[in-house]
Amino acid sequence: MVVLVLNCGSSSVKFQLLNMDTEDVIAKGLFERIGAGQAVLKYSRPGQDKLKLQPEGIEDHNQAIAFILDLLIDGENGVIKSLDEIDSVGHRVVHGGEKFSSSMAITEAVYQSLVENIPLAPLHNPANLLGIDAINEILPDVPQVGVFDTAFHQTMPKMAYLYPLPMWLYDKYRLRRYGFHGTSHKYISARCADLDGRPIEEMKIITVHLGNGASVAAIDGGKSVDTSMGFTPLEGLVMGSRCGDIDPAIPVFIQKNENISPDELDSLLNRESGVKGLSSGRYIDMRDIEDGYFEGDPLCVDILEMYCYRIRKYVGAYSAAMGGLDAVIFTAGVGENSPITRELVMAPLGYLGVKMDKKVNDDDAHPGSGYEGRVSTADSTVSVWVIPTNEELVIARDTKEIVSTKETGTV
Ligand code: ADP
Repeated sequence: MVVLVLNCGSSSVKFQLLNMDTEDVIAKGLFERIGAGQAVLKYSRPGQDKLKLQPEGIEDHNQAIAFILDLLIDGENGVIKSLDEIDSVGHRVVHGGEKFSSSMAITEAVYQSLVENIPLAPLHNPANLLGIDAINEILPDVPQVGVFDTAFHQTMPKMAYLYPLPMWLYDKYRLRRYGFHGTSHKYISARCADLDGRPIEEMKIITVHLGNGASVAAIDGGKSVDTSMGFTPLEGLVMGSRCGDIDPAIPVFIQKNENISPDELDSLLNRESGVKGLSSGRYIDMRDIEDGYFEGDPLCVDILEMYCYRIRKYVGAYSAAMGGLDAVIFTAGVGENSPITRELVMAPLGYLGVKMDKKVNDDDAHPGSGYEGRVSTADSTVSVWVIPTNEELVIARDTKEIVSTKETGTV
């Protein structure tokens, strides 16, 4: 079965075409700056040189997806002969609300629920819907599946997901913790159990996803029981440009004293804070912070220490929440590639039974990215892992399973 995975952002479309009989990637790419000047598509196929294309006139997601599909069947650069070879399409959908605790075939009713969820994710869900609309127009007979970032966290107990606010806000707006990056937390926790050779049902795992957005999850017996992102992806850790946890009175204070609009406040917290805010706009990329840390730049030392301290607080909190800890997993851009981050987070946790293996944790030990394995010593009671995340594979697996086992209807 050939599955096309689409991850549509507000001005981007990320895609992978996978052969799900072998789980091999046939082609993948990223279209950026859609509708924002000159769109750029980076396209790659295993064993071939990467291509960078700058097609004219790509103004919206429909045109971008039509271009991608044409490219996939192109005589020179294509990978399939006809679009008939695409059996199904899996979409990353950011917000599934409370309705979806697992991936779903996109039926008319599911589509309507996604429309209803737009207020919960005004930046993300509309773009996800544009992707579904485009496929519906171009490949109307191909079944589509939605895989939700929030679904894996729907197992959280009430004590973890409710905020201590007036109940009418929950009743009226479904204002609660949802959590995000669920596909990633699910994949790396299952992979860790596989690598460790233990049933996941018997494991207490903390997953640490550190990309531009970052979140931690507590996974007890294979189920998410708590996570650091909340009603939106703003809560929790220090991120590239998001503030994470702050005193909830601070936004009100800023708004009153700076006399700014709700949109400006939203932008300040989401796009001008975190690492970017702490460095007064100088840095957003953790590689620059790391470089500065090793050069002894006091600002970068402060930022990296704060970034890691806050992750460590969550590791401590979640081991307490689960009443024990077997494994901690690092993933995504920073988690996979930054030995110093893993060291600063984990080394002080000796009292929990953590013993880092400095040599293995150092990326010189395994040059090039893509290392998967343990970075703690054999006698560490808590094992520490680096596991590259693979959200596309989870989306493709869920899509294959749903399309193979259920009646699906197109929108
Ligand atoms: P997202 O998918 O959330 O956009 P990624 O998972 O690609 O993000 O991670 C992006 C982050 O990873 C950036 O802050 C980038 O600097 C960081 N990163 C990538 N490589 C390294 C590295 N070698 N050391 C530290 N950080 C890195």
